[in-house]
Amino acid sequence: MARSVSKTITKTKYIFITGGVLSSLGKGITSASLGLLLKERGLSVTIMKFDPYINVDPGTMNPYQHGEVYVTDDGAETDLDLGHYERFVQAPVTRSNSVSTGQIYFEVIQRERQGKYLGKTVQVVPHITDEIKRRMVTYDKKFDIVLIELGGTVGDIESMPFLEAARQLSLEKGRTNAIFIHLTYVPFIKSAGEFKTKPTQHSVRMLMEYGIQPDILVCRCEEDLEKDIKSKIALFCNVDEDSVVLALDAETIYEVPMLYAKAKLDDTVIKKLNISRTQKPTLNDWTKFVQRVKKPKSAVTIGFVGKYVQHQDAYKSILEALTHAGAVNNARVTVKYIDSEKITTAEEAMNALEDTDGIIVAPGFGSRGIEGKILAIQQVRERGIPFFGICLGMQCAVIEFARNVAGLAGSNSAEFKKVKNNVIDLMPDQRGITNKGGTMRLGSYPCVLKEGTKSLEAYKSQIIRERHRHRYEFNNDFRVELESNGLVISGVSPDGRLVEMVELPNHPWFVGCQFHPEFKSVAVGGHPLFVGFVGAALQRHEMAQ
Ligand code: GLN
Repeated sequence: MARSVSKTITKTKYIFITGGVLSSLGKGITSASLGLLLKERGLSVTIMKFDPYINVDPGTMNPYQHGEVYVTDDGAETDLDLGHYERFVQAPVTRSNSVSTGQIYFEVIQRERQGKYLGKTVQVVPHITDEIKRRMVTYDKKFDIVLIELGGTVGDIESMPFLEAARQLSLEKGRTNAIFIHLTYVPFIKSAGEFKTKPTQHSVRMLMEYGIQPDILVCRCEEDLEKDIKSKIALFCNVDEDSVVLALDAETIYEVPMLYAKAKLDDTVIKKLNISRTQKPTLNDWTKFVQRVKKPKSAVTIGFVGKYVQHQDAYKSILEALTHAGAVNNARVTVKYIDSEKITTAEEAMNALEDTDGIIVAPGFGSRGIEGKILAIQQVRERGIPFFGICLGMQCAVIEFARNVAGLAGSNSAEFKKVKNNVIDLMPDQRGITNKGGTMRLGSYPCVLKEGTKSLEAYKSQIIRERHRHRYEFNNDFRVELESNGLVISGVSPDGRLVEMVELPNHPWFVGCQFHPEFKSVAVGGHPLFVGFVGAALQRHEMAQ
């Protein structure tokens, strides 16, 4: 469950965030930033996302199309915006925070099959909208504020039931208990030499057609708008001038909460929701963190070996975790993308790793690019370059070690090839299950760390909990043999059955983990493994100077 606060909450206030004009305006970052500002005011906050697609969850979607699949503690495969919510607001989100049209229909159709609608005609209104509303109030009286981000752009056919549900809910809750923030875009047209407000006017008009009058407009624009343009937007969109908040482009996403604080977004929200007695957000630690992101003392280059390197959203949480760890180490982390499919020889691996201070081998599914990852790992192992293998990255490190150190020729993962030496395999109780989703290990599991390891040194705590999303595991049949050749198993499940972390002792920093630490990295403070890894890369960089 999401962390609810101990004080009793008698009234929960709702904030709906919609988007207009075009997509990718940053609704997720806006929701996360506002969440942070309200939390800093002493309010308890959770953020939910309602996505209009018919997939039940993004677990089966191609990372090219949808970006990373973000995993929650309770094992839900969700939209990557939930990652921003956790990184900014630091309140864990659960399965209930991520809702899709697919889930809504799935539920309603199941209920219809069970005869629960008593012979009625099942319709979008009220049955689908009622189910949406039921989910929107999941956290009622559990948090002071529930921020609800509505995915998609106003005007899309598929987002209409969500808008209708939000309209009804706001009416039921009352004007000061539920407000709408609409994020729009105010483009600067070079040939005319001016900012244009018409797209904003049109998207607000469209929202009004659905019966929704936005309370606050957040306008993305490249430069400060003159006062008369703000007044024009206010007048034509039927909001007061204070409620037109500018969202200027930021150097880093982490600066956005500071910009919104300056633009008084949280003040306006508090006023509209009639909330009194909250302290002003100070953002002290946050500001220090942003300063370090913007102007760090030193710099490192991390080679990132993966197969979706042209599409960086596919690895969103890892990239953010590197930024957080960079700030802790006071170093700018520049990522050099290395396409694993382009590495076919040791020489190509060597060239690809040139100018890097450390290497991450990415998580992934399927055999494409595997041999390139293994070749890269051989180089970093032999040359003492800091290495961090995440999920598939750890599995590749085990395969490399088995082949090249333990002499287990042809070692491989059963995911790619059934061979004699499947050092990575399904657990015996998983074999024979053909439904892939059924065998995936998802969500948070405990792990016990071994004394005297870099893993324990990083975490400073013997028992940790991390999130998983994988099917294959280290094969215990090879445990003794690999250990006797020098591989250290630094983390195992409490019953000792599952290998969760491996490392190499005589190497500056060579750590692999079966879980995904990136999902638990928060902006201020980062994650212990990423902090340790970037620290090792920085040390290498400084020694080379
Ligand atoms: N494909 C591997 C498995 O299923 C690794 C998954 C991952 O990297 N997330 O076990």
